[in-house]
Amino acid sequence: MLFLIGMHSALTANSDQLTQWLADADRVKSSDYTRFAALLNQVEIGSAALSPKQRQLLAFLRAWQRNYTGEFDQAIVEFKNVIDRADDEVLRTRAGAAMINAMAIARRYSEAYSYLDLLIERLPQISDTKARDQILHVAALLNNEAGQYELALEYSARLLAQAVGGRGECMARQLLVQTQYELDQLEPAGGEVTQALAVCERNDEPIFANFVRVFVARRLIDRHQYKEAASMLSAKYDEIQATRYPRLTTEVDVLLAQAFFSSGDAAQAKAYALRVVDKRVASAVTDPLVSAYKLLYQIAQQAGDERTALSYHEKYAEADRKNIDDVSARSLAYQMVRHQSIANRLQIETLNKQNQVLQLEQQLGAKAAEASRLYIALLVAGLLMVFLWALLTKRRQLHFRRLSQRDGLTGIDNRPHFLDLARRALDESRRGGRECSLVLFDLDHFKSINDRHGHAAGDHVLKQVSAVCGTYLRTNQYFGRIGGEEFALLLVDCGLDRAARFAEQLRLALVAANAASGLDGVIISASFGVASTDQSGYELRQLMAKADAALYVAKRDGRNRVVITQTDPSQARLA
Ligand code: GH3
Ligand code: MG
Ligand code: MG
Repeated sequence: MLFLIGMHSALTANSDQLTQWLADADRVKSSDYTRFAALLNQVEIGSAALSPKQRQLLAFLRAWQRNYTGEFDQAIVEFKNVIDRADDEVLRTRAGAAMINAMAIARRYSEAYSYLDLLIERLPQISDTKARDQILHVAALLNNEAGQYELALEYSARLLAQAVGGRGECMARQLLVQTQYELDQLEPAGGEVTQALAVCERNDEPIFANFVRVFVARRLIDRHQYKEAASMLSAKYDEIQATRYPRLTTEVDVLLAQAFFSSGDAAQAKAYALRVVDKRVASAVTDPLVSAYKLLYQIAQQAGDERTALSYHEKYAEADRKNIDDVSARSLAYQMVRHQSIANRLQIETLNKQNQVLQLEQQLGAKAAEASRLYIALLVAGLLMVFLWALLTKRRQLHFRRLSQRDGLTGIDNRPHFLDLARRALDESRRGGRECSLVLFDLDHFKSINDRHGHAAGDHVLKQVSAVCGTYLRTNQYFGRIGGEEFALLLVDCGLDRAARFAEQLRLALVAANAASGLDGVIISASFGVASTDQSGYELRQLMAKADAALYVAKRDGRNRVVITQTDPSQARLA
């Protein structure tokens, strides 16, 4: 009945009504998919009367719909059309941000990162908050995917600063929760989670709210609180299904499967894992799908059904291999556009200032604006001078100290300084009861690079290696060159397993850097040894010796791999 009324009014719709429907569709698209789709159909019926501007907005929303339902490649084509054709700068920008999101989901990473760079460059010219929200959101999202958590945090913080109370705040807080999870800092009952849930629910954003729950559930599962994870997600299961957003629904299904499996309920676990497999899109490998196959294999094995177990294991291995290729692709794509990103990061500081001035002006009103602009300019100039003066003095002081601490070739900490920092961090961690890990790595067959391409090429590779690794560093991590082609990292608050995963990420990034090295026939790779204070104690010398023993095993077993220590170094195993 409702639908009929809709049809009738659509046939006689005037331009104002069409504009209203389009605006409504735009507003509810991520909170109420059913209504969104119905509104678009309603507009489509009256489409003969659409103005060019309305037509372009409709095209954008249709592309958005394709992305939502999983037709990523088609969505990308349609977003590109909107970018090419729309007259409205804001709409073009929103299409750009949505397209980057679709590219990342479709695993077209280099395209995604390159477009992101273009968009970030345009940010200063864009004043529309919705468009700005979207750019910052996709920037944080992509940096999260590339393991650039510090940058991701920076973008989320900016989004948060410009979007208090609204949908943008919900997006930002969801991202903060995600990044905190990645950094192992998420507290399931902490303030960040409560705030994120509150603002997302107030803004009627079930997708973002439930992605917050996804990361909370992951954290609970990491902490073996399976019942808590399962009951939290089960309580929202209907709401989650109603979003019809495959990325969310499959993620939740697989988490429920994991929680039930770990708490001993194999039947429930199997049911949820099978849902993920049923919902898969041909040829697309997602993290939930890999995990679902792995669980189904484990469940069958536990039940003694060897044949089913084997068949799921084959599917799992195949999907997992594709997924690992994907991690490598992400690193490579990120490395390729890294240089511009760094430049942009500096630009952001300036933009932030400009933005604050703009907001101030608006608040002061049109009349006062002219006069205050002068004051603001004076104020900014004054502040800038004080700031520059302080900066110069401080820099002069620091310059000489830093010179003695840096490695001349790569610019990272040299051996004495690294050892000094590491020793201090270890002492402090011992007192605070925090676990630390030491990662040592040594480039493979480096001598042959020197022999075949000359010493200068070798130097170039050393610089490149430190630059690549440097992009993965976070606070509380120390990185130094401790020998010719030997490097070390001390990771505070980091256990052996996580350190091994981090080392594996670096290993893949170095392999990915091969393609970008520009040296024909040069194969860059490194062997890694990892040791942690839980096994080896807080004495730096002892920790280094253990990591070195593991590194030796990595070299012996064929290089280009990560090995972690066991208490007895002769039993070191592959990570
Ligand atoms: P492996 O896989 O066993 O580590 O083999 P490798 O060739 O890397 O090891 P080896 O220790 O035999 O050789 C290390 C080479 O690194 C020898 C040395 O000439 C080179 N090297 C050390 N420091 C520098 C530097 O600053 N610049 C350049 N270009 N080469 C350096
Ligand atoms: Mg060496
Ligand atoms: Mg070497």
